[in-house]
Amino acid sequence: MNAFQYATAHSPESAHELVAANGAYLAGGNDLLSLLKDYLVSASILVNIKSLPGLNKIVRGEKAWTIGALVTIAEIERDAAVKWAFPGLHEAAAEIGSQQIRNVATVGGNLAQHSRCWYFRHRDTVCLKKHGDLCYARHGENRYHSLFTGNDCISPLVSSLATVFAALDATAIVLRDAKETRLTMGELYQKAWEDPTAHNSLRPGDLILRVEIPAGRRRSAYLQASDKHAFDWALVSCAAAADVVDGKLKSPRVALGSISPKPHEVAAANEFLEGKTLDEATAAAAADLILKDAKPLEHNAYKVPLAHALIRRTLLKLKGDA
Ligand SMILES: Cc1cc2nc3c(=O)[nH]c(=O)nc-3n(C[C@H](O)[C@H](O)[C@H](O)COP(=O)(O)OP(=O)(O)OC[C@H]3O[C@@H](n4cnc5c(N)ncnc54)[C@H](O)[C@@H]3O)c2cc1C
Ligand code: SF4
Repeated sequence: MNAFQYATAHSPESAHELVAANGAYLAGGNDLLSLLKDYLVSASILVNIKSLPGLNKIVRGEKAWTIGALVTIAEIERDAAVKWAFPGLHEAAAEIGSQQIRNVATVGGNLAQHSRCWYFRHRDTVCLKKHGDLCYARHGENRYHSLFTGNDCISPLVSSLATVFAALDATAIVLRDAKETRLTMGELYQKAWEDPTAHNSLRPGDLILRVEIPAGRRRSAYLQASDKHAFDWALVSCAAAADVVDGKLKSPRVALGSISPKPHEVAAANEFLEGKTLDEATAAAAADLILKDAKPLEHNAYKVPLAHALIRRTLLKLKGDA
């Protein structure tokens, strides 16, 4: 690990000032410490943000719920009101890592965590994401990689929270250049879609302050498939949310994780589901639309039927939520 300075910030503004161009924010440390130990990130200063006031709360507002960037995943999982209002968010939180990880991992750190691609995580492999000139996964071990991408890197989104936040129409509020900037989940990962070196659209010094979820969208569900029951990332995840009026879907949204560098959403599928009553055939037709343009690689074609099944099951969970 390279030498670094360490400071604790007591306001978002001072955190931003301290981190400057070459520092890193330290929240739960789950991902950052591994990145530092493996020489994948070098920071001149670590800015501990765990003492920032007001960012560790879940607040229920009339129009939106606010989840502070320092709220832990365990706090989301345990919050009975969140479970009632956003069952899909509760389900996603409960699937992350293990209890020990959830106890310390924060919302901000979860959204900003780096690629899990094993080539990226190998300290001696200089792939495109590390400004090399080759994606080793494309013609190598790509079992865990994307079915969709906008660039030559095929490393998929890892944040389970981003997937469910996308379906819930949530917005991340980021402190950028002394101003608060609002980013949809699509915007938060758009740069990773376009640029092989990016993990997300955050710029140096950007600080995620909170996530806002519109109130009133009560029905939501999340499912994921993983190799292991616990202590593992998703092979594919799916989140869905909608209002259900007289048995019909209103403003439905389906988002998938682990198959694209950003939450994978297909507007045509959401439009198709609008006003529909959910049954097996409708859910399957939506899944067909969502996966229509998938481009499987040598070792990850299994993700297509897996995603199809998850979409169908997640959508049908919305129905069972009556
Ligand atoms: C075995 C295992 C299984 C896992 N399974 C899953 C899974 O299924 N789904 C999933 O989503 N995650 C999973 N994770 C990842 C885990 O959820 C993340 O590592 C964790 O959420 C990171 O949070 P943290 O607070 O520890 O972040 P840190 O490690 O402190 O930070 C991570 C990154 O985010 C930056 N950062 C932190 N806070 C902010 C902020 N407020 N604004 C801007 N940047 C910030 C840091 O500088 C760093 O680059 C797993 C981890 C492990 C070890
Ligand atoms: S998928 Fe991305 S992170 Fe993995 S080897 Fe290819 S360029 Fe590197």
